[in-house]
Amino acid sequence: MCGIVGYIGKKRNAIDTLIDGLKRLEYRGYDSAGFAVINNNKIKTIKETGKVVGLQRKLQEEWSEYKDTSINLGIAHTRWATHGEPNHDNCHPHCDNNEKFAIVHNGIIENYQALKTQLELKGCKFNSETDSEVIVHLISECFEGDLAQAVAATVKKLEGTFGIAAIALEDSNSMVVARSGSPIAIGIGNDETIVASDIAALVAYTKRVIFLDDDDLAVITADGVDIRTLNNVPVSRETTHIDWDTTDAEKGGYEHFMMKEIYEQPTAISNSIRGRLDFKLETAVLNGLNFTPIEMAQINRIIIAACGTSMHAGMVGEYYFEDLASIPTEVEQAAEFRYRNPIIEKNSLVLAISQSGETADTLAAVKEAQNKGAIVAGLCNVVGSTIARETGRGVYLHAGPEIGVASTKAFTCQTTVLLMLALKLGRNRRLSGQDGMKLIKEINNISTLVETVLEQADNIAQIAKKYAKMNNFFFIGRGYLFPAALEGALKLKEISYVHAEGYHAAELKHGPIALLEESVPVLALANDIAGKDKIIGNMQECRARKSPVIATATIGDKSIEEHSDDIIWIPECSEFVAPIVTVVALQLFSYYFAYERGCDIDQPRNLAKSVTVE
Ligand code: GLU
Repeated sequence: MCGIVGYIGKKRNAIDTLIDGLKRLEYRGYDSAGFAVINNNKIKTIKETGKVVGLQRKLQEEWSEYKDTSINLGIAHTRWATHGEPNHDNCHPHCDNNEKFAIVHNGIIENYQALKTQLELKGCKFNSETDSEVIVHLISECFEGDLAQAVAATVKKLEGTFGIAAIALEDSNSMVVARSGSPIAIGIGNDETIVASDIAALVAYTKRVIFLDDDDLAVITADGVDIRTLNNVPVSRETTHIDWDTTDAEKGGYEHFMMKEIYEQPTAISNSIRGRLDFKLETAVLNGLNFTPIEMAQINRIIIAACGTSMHAGMVGEYYFEDLASIPTEVEQAAEFRYRNPIIEKNSLVLAISQSGETADTLAAVKEAQNKGAIVAGLCNVVGSTIARETGRGVYLHAGPEIGVASTKAFTCQTTVLLMLALKLGRNRRLSGQDGMKLIKEINNISTLVETVLEQADNIAQIAKKYAKMNNFFFIGRGYLFPAALEGALKLKEISYVHAEGYHAAELKHGPIALLEESVPVLALANDIAGKDKIIGNMQECRARKSPVIATATIGDKSIEEHSDDIIWIPECSEFVAPIVTVVALQLFSYYFAYERGCDIDQPRNLAKSVTVE
């Protein structure tokens, strides 16, 4: 969600680096973009609504000769509007009335109204409707010759979440950044430093990255970074080596990131598994969790806090933990967890799942759980992300960057990791070595099964095309395929904007069946695992109401043919693995469906990748 980029250094033109960084953040979802640089003893800003190419066009129109000037310092922003429409005035960066300071901000300033009123009483003129603009006026008011001091004084007055980058006309050799709740990563290069809210904007320039903690403030120069608390006490933060490649964050011949990431799943899953299966002890090795066998044995309840696709992965995890490790488990929508005053017992494990590791609600749940004395672990994809650091223990997915807004490989890798965790917890309890080994073999085979699903792409594309004019869908499933049905429906609505509901197949009769008719297809997950016979009954009920039924079925299972209009074939696998491979087929279905309808697959309207606001 939204993004910040900042550049300081003499190695390249700041504007080119800022624009390149913004482009690499495009996938996060935004509505306008802009930058500010210091040039000719003035702060120059250029802003434009819409995509970064629009900003580039405007740059060419207004200042085509910028390349002939050496520009060493600048800040840039992609905005996901929270306060005020996505128009030119509301676009960041924002400047103070004397145009001596410029800032970009990610997040929400909750007390901006009160601050704005005070500033207006003092004669300050506001040019936008954003909450962010108060920041730059406060900096101007607090400035006594040192930008870091002015930012520190400003930040102390702010309530809410923020990642801020600020520049001052008086000092073209440094930039100041600060964070509370919104991520700031600092890329340390040779004679240049790049700042961004997401490492995707940095990896083209450096692999050495420092992540700020909440309430850190950093003075950035071309030679490095000086980090301190808001009270000016120096602190040191570790430098992390990022092993992502720029090509990982590019489309590599695919038309969309989503498709690239769907096809990356066999490799991504293998990477999630690599080195984590212990064939001798017939268990999983997840060292990042840092559990002793005794600590593990003491866990008497698991609460999974997550949102969206991660929550659906968590729901599969609930089945795993109960079936394989006999640990009572519940999944909580992370925002609900935080505000519902959850009951945490001494040996409760709270598992926070978030691809980006920055999801605001999940992070808040982590803090609430820690506050209540739970054992808290994170399951994140982005190395060094806030949830990963806050929890201090957990498992990385190693799925590589996920750029498509609709999550694909994160789901399959999260679910695979949850299965490994259940194996580990199970082996620590009642799961026999023999059953552990069986599971290890199944986990090891997931990538191959996913490849088999990908081979069905043409068939799935044809089915999606056939139904592409339909505007309402139901996805139904039972047992392990119930969360898969929820995830399938979510994928379809995210990228194609059609109304799709995921339901437990048994729940259909308790209301939604009233909506069934010829124009409302039902996607029934009828793989040959526990619950199949029951779902066949539900499919018949749907067809009796004239709804077309598209089924997923196990390859070779002829029994489904007579109960469905179309079939997506899924390779034979255990119920543990079925949700993972079936969701891959549903991802393809959604992709082709949205493609057929001409939707903007990688940047669906109103959505953002990393949801950093509550
Ligand atoms: N709340 C700010 C605005 O609406 C910043 C939003 C963002 O993070 O992009 O302008």
